[in-house]
Amino acid sequence: MTSDVLILGGGIVGAACARAFLKQGLKVTIIERELIGGGATAAGMGHIVVMDDSEAQFALTKRSRDLWDQLVPELPSSVEFERRGTLWVAADQQEFNAVSPKLSYYNSRHVSAQLLSAQTLYDAEPHLREGFAGGFLVPDDSVIYAPCAAAWLAQGANIIQADVKTIDDGKVTLAIGEQHKAANLIIASGHYVTQLFSTIPVKPRKGHLAITDRYPGQVRHQLIELGYLKSAHGDSTESVAFNVQPRKTGQLLIGSSRQFGADHSAVEPHMISKMLARAAQYLPNILNMSIIRTWTGFRAATTDKLPLVGRYRNADRTWLATGHEGLGITTAMATAELLTHLIAKTKAPIDPTPYLPERFPQCRT
Ligand SMILES: Cc1cc2nc3c(=O)[nH]c(=O)nc-3n(C[C@H](O)[C@H](O)[C@H](O)COP(=O)(O)OP(=O)(O)OC[C@H]3O[C@@H](n4cnc5c(N)ncnc54)[C@H](O)[C@@H]3O)c2cc1C
Repeated sequence: MTSDVLILGGGIVGAACARAFLKQGLKVTIIERELIGGGATAAGMGHIVVMDDSEAQFALTKRSRDLWDQLVPELPSSVEFERRGTLWVAADQQEFNAVSPKLSYYNSRHVSAQLLSAQTLYDAEPHLREGFAGGFLVPDDSVIYAPCAAAWLAQGANIIQADVKTIDDGKVTLAIGEQHKAANLIIASGHYVTQLFSTIPVKPRKGHLAITDRYPGQVRHQLIELGYLKSAHGDSTESVAFNVQPRKTGQLLIGSSRQFGADHSAVEPHMISKMLARAAQYLPNILNMSIIRTWTGFRAATTDKLPLVGRYRNADRTWLATGHEGLGITTAMATAELLTHLIAKTKAPIDPTPYLPERFPQCRT
């Protein structure tokens, strides 16, 4: 037994877990078949955002944003941390009417937020199309470049580049036949988790992104339509929502799409067209910008939109950290923190119950 903790998967979640256990003075090994941060983590937008789809989602995203904030003084420049804030755009009066309750919800849970009138919306983002009703600003949300964040978080861990073929409580067997074991095994393999545990209730949900050439000054905040939750948290087979992020380089990262049932990772032109058309309804200048790259990635989706964080079945030494859907970059830090408390049997800063895998019958006994 060469490590205290063995982590399968070197995405942002596995890397955050590595850091959390290393901080406890434990010996950590990550097994990753590709590059650290090369899976869904490299495909994501890197938006660190507090979301209010449920109490449990709010608690996890808020705690995790706080933990990211604590890291800011240490983050290397490659992580490209920027406190952009999230500006949710209300397309019409009906969406604007939902802003006041949202504001009370955030403020009563100690997350700073502001209601923007139409005038203040356009002062904040002059390039938005005319006619929007207003907005909702969460100024402390931020953006990072997640693959570099994962590489940084994983520093200090022993990294084995290999494909894991089978798992047996706390022990993994690699494709090359080698075996590794540890006191605790963390499964942080994102949507690939079902390749090794076929019954785990996680489904791949494909997403497309596009990035423009450099157009500095066009957008100042991460801009999202208030209707985004309908796309993110609905169950439709195919949806798009306006979601644009300004990068440090002056480029605009344009999202986002969601698809269930996609069986390949190729970029689908009809999805890119739908996504860009949606974005242009909010930022008409996008039609005049060059798109220099498009790509896809797969989110690990659960039916209740919450991740699986905790013991897998009654297996003593196997723990799950997957199912983060479109929020894994945000919630990686709190996931790692929860796992350290669950394993040590100590009280975590947030209640772990809503995220325990045992809420699904497939993850009991
Ligand atoms: C288009 C898109 C936009 C997104 N935008 C955001 C956003 O703005 N903010 C946010 O918070 N989240 C966002 N997400 C979600 C986020 O990217 C994911 O939730 C997160 O990256 C998941 O991290 P992970 O470590 O669980 O998985 P991954 O990054 O997929 O890492 C899992 C790793 O496990 C490895 N692995 C799997 N099986 C094996 C095996 N058998 N042997 C060895 N290695 C193995 C894989 O190679 C992979 O590197 C977005 C996702 C997409 C697709």
